[in-house]
Amino acid sequence: MTKQPNPYEIAVNQLEKVAKLIDLDNGVLELLKIPQRIMIVQVPVKMDDGSVQVFLGYRSQHCNALGPWKGGIRYHPNVTLDEVKALSMWMTWKCAVVSIPLGGGKGGITCNPKEMSLTEIEKMTRRYAFMIAPIIGPECDIPAPDVYTNPQTMAWIMDTYSMLKGYAVPGVVTGKPIIIGGSRGRNEATGRGVTISTVEALNYLKMPIKGATVSVQGFGNVGAIGAQLMQEQGMKIVAVSDSKGGIHDPNGLDIGKVRQYKAETGSVIDFDGSERISNKEILELDVDVLAPCALENAITKDNADNIRAKITSEGANGPTTPQADEILYNNGVFVCPDILANAGGVTVSYFEWVQGLQNYFWSEEQVNEQLKNIMCCAFSNVVTEAKRHKVDNRTAAYALAVHRVSEAIKLRGLFP
Ligand code: NAD
Repeated sequence: MTKQPNPYEIAVNQLEKVAKLIDLDNGVLELLKIPQRIMIVQVPVKMDDGSVQVFLGYRSQHCNALGPWKGGIRYHPNVTLDEVKALSMWMTWKCAVVSIPLGGGKGGITCNPKEMSLTEIEKMTRRYAFMIAPIIGPECDIPAPDVYTNPQTMAWIMDTYSMLKGYAVPGVVTGKPIIIGGSRGRNEATGRGVTISTVEALNYLKMPIKGATVSVQGFGNVGAIGAQLMQEQGMKIVAVSDSKGGIHDPNGLDIGKVRQYKAETGSVIDFDGSERISNKEILELDVDVLAPCALENAITKDNADNIRAKITSEGANGPTTPQADEILYNNGVFVCPDILANAGGVTVSYFEWVQGLQNYFWSEEQVNEQLKNIMCCAFSNVVTEAKRHKVDNRTAAYALAVHRVSEAIKLRGLFP
């Protein structure tokens, strides 16, 4: 089996590449390579059968130069310290690229939630929240959902943190259920952001939106909602997949029905009228848009040459390795990089945080309109920067983001 590229090495490699391009101060570069603070915690859980299982949990706070650390919490068997460190660094750039006053953080627990009961997941979440409570808070570090965590997970974290404080602290997490201070539109925000970026990319390349063919790898919060919203824009979703495999219908899948089917059966596979394809094949289909919305390292040097899509819209974080990036760029593939394409989630998390601090909540139309303004502006800035430096979109997005963060670091200066 080939070794999976290390996401933290990739993140540092991307930063170093951009540092050269924008002539970044060496001290600032060294500082940005390493998260400001990392916490590793033990999470023991009494399982339903009476046994005790001990999980490892992490929280990485990469950089708070622009504002409080912010980023999701992931539950997955492959969560590692290096993965969390990389994801926290990518969050710093993501917040900076869409110009919101937040920094980058990320957390996770190495576990397989698919093999755990809801009670076990709740106990694990509460113990993890208790352990990281000293370093999170509405003005300090604000977690949100990521892979295999959801609004319910956020509600448990919020409740645990509030119990420790002795009063309700809804601002400690975003992505909460609406009834306890969540924002309208947050659940759909990342998929909506992927859709907005894809529409902008199609417009930029002067390709029609109606009938544009799309394949989506990963059918969770980002992929399934993104597919639904892209379909509503008139695009034809010809293939989707989840961890069990993929389905293909060249005439277009009815995403509403596929979502219902997945909710009933636990997977998209064997959906009526579709043919089975693998998670490898879904990436290599001859489509206009490929949206990798699962995990890191989907597109590597081994398959980048086989990508036939004209646009990739990265719903997932880190789905393309640097070597693959180079191949895609040379092959003329227009990459909508993760820190831009999937920034809709953190943008509406920012709106949720703002609404919570003001105790004044917006309509869904307001949320979606503000999201669209921010995403379109960021898209335009990135493609302008790419043209200016004659570089790929990811490098351009990084150049903008790293420059903004480094300016903040310089202005704030070093303590003491
Ligand atoms: P999720 O848990 O809701 O869904 C993940 C999906 O990916 C599931 O359908 C799962 O079956 C599928 N999957 C898992 N392993 C796979 C594999 N090897 N091949 C194909 N499919 C696989 O998670 P999500 O929130 O949709 O997150 C997906 C990606 O989007 C992650 O990279 C995450 O970091 C990123 N992201 C999420 C948000 C958010 O707001 N949820 C925001 C920004 C970025």
